[in-house]
Amino acid sequence: MPKCFYCGVELDKTNRSLEHIIPNGIAGKLSSYNLLCAKHNNKFSKIDNDLCLNLTLFTNTLNPKRERGKNPKCKMGYNNELIINRLASGEYYADDKILIKQTEKGAFLQFKTCFSSDDKYKKIKKDKFLEICKNLLLQKGCQEAILNKKLKEYSNIFENSIKDEHNPIINFNISFNAKNNLFPATLKIAIEFYLYNKLPSKHINNAIEILKSFDEKAILNICAYCYPENFYKTDSVYHTIYLKADSNKRVLYCCMSFYGVLNTIVLLNDNYNGDDIEYSYCYDLRNDTEIEFNNKLDFDIKMIEHFLDRNYSFNQKIVECCNVFMQFLVKREYKFDYLYTQIKSVYNSILLGKFISNEENYANTFYLQITNMIKSDNELKYIQNRFIKQISDACLELYTYEQYLKDYKLDRIGHIFSKILAISIAENPYILTNMDLLADKCCTTLNKVNTNDLCINEYLAANKEIICNNLREFITSNNSFLQKINYYKELFLLK
Ligand SMILES: [Zn+2]
Repeated sequence: MPKCFYCGVELDKTNRSLEHIIPNGIAGKLSSYNLLCAKHNNKFSKIDNDLCLNLTLFTNTLNPKRERGKNPKCKMGYNNELIINRLASGEYYADDKILIKQTEKGAFLQFKTCFSSDDKYKKIKKDKFLEICKNLLLQKGCQEAILNKKLKEYSNIFENSIKDEHNPIINFNISFNAKNNLFPATLKIAIEFYLYNKLPSKHINNAIEILKSFDEKAILNICAYCYPENFYKTDSVYHTIYLKADSNKRVLYCCMSFYGVLNTIVLLNDNYNGDDIEYSYCYDLRNDTEIEFNNKLDFDIKMIEHFLDRNYSFNQKIVECCNVFMQFLVKREYKFDYLYTQIKSVYNSILLGKFISNEENYANTFYLQITNMIKSDNELKYIQNRFIKQISDACLELYTYEQYLKDYKLDRIGHIFSKILAISIAENPYILTNMDLLADKCCTTLNKVNTNDLCINEYLAANKEIICNNLREFITSNNSFLQKINYYKELFLLK
């Protein structure tokens, strides 16, 4: 029976609770009932929350699908002047700057704000502005009769002073671990991912004790930032966890990456004496799907201590990772000419590959190769999976299986045709005087053809009749072929 790793109580339906290994607040999907009792799940909620706070900007801007709740809003700067609240949906509105000065004649009001181009926040801001105006007018003893007229006037002033800005400059800051609140969460994730994979808890008892102690210093001794070269995938935005135990190097560690930006390592055991293990989890947040992760690390204790010692600068690494992340947020216009050229070259490479003997395999190969091409192309890698499928389907209308067969036949079967023709003529040049005989001979040979491509053999066997008819037609009634035959007849002095 599974036990709570915090208190050891056996977990059953009465006391268990669903624990997200990567918090739901950053769209984590991996979860288990077998990790914590309800009481201790609750105890860790602040830790989970702290991790989410460190990552607010990324959750807000990417707005990944999550199991429950809404993604958070995020404060950003606008033109170095206003603070705006950006909702994960993309709508935003400013914290207004309001200045009121009483003057001899009346009052001076300055109202600075901004909002995204939707009527919802415009109305909220305008109502607020008019409410202030109304209060000022009433303070100054404005008569009811004039009040509405004045407010109408101010409403027009509000409308007329709205300026559109198509590319507003929005700025923001990120800081990780600003309140020493980052690493407990990474330690907890490492422990949970280990236990999630049903590995013996005896190897991580020490790490569990450190987590339970909430001792900042002890936690920092085994947790650190870690940005291994070319390890995490960059063709989309991922949450990744990688767990490795090496019995030779006697280390058990867990590396993790959130949004590809916040990358850390946890040393779970520095004197490991269990089996070699390697587990990973990788979730594509843009395409909302788990994917296989095959990259590997091979750290020894020295390398891990290098990260834990914190004697190196990783700021530049974080900047690089942020830039990769931000590229996925940019609104792009796809260059269809370019996409089309790339797809054409995919088709050509399929033509050069092994023969595909049925339509379904052809469609699958086509989709697979287009996906590979797009994912590895710097211009195109931002296209989401669901669009890749649409693109592939649309292109299959152009590069149909029929077209493929035609092109492939021209290429490969054309070679086989000419070989058969050449052999038949070489065996008996006099056959050139009787085209029907040549056709018979070629068809008989074709029926016996055995290439080293199994698919081609199958295709030839299955389409014997059509191919023979085509061949016969080509030999007996293709003008340019017959012209060539006449040339050869003269060459061989055949009449
Ligand atoms: Zn418990």
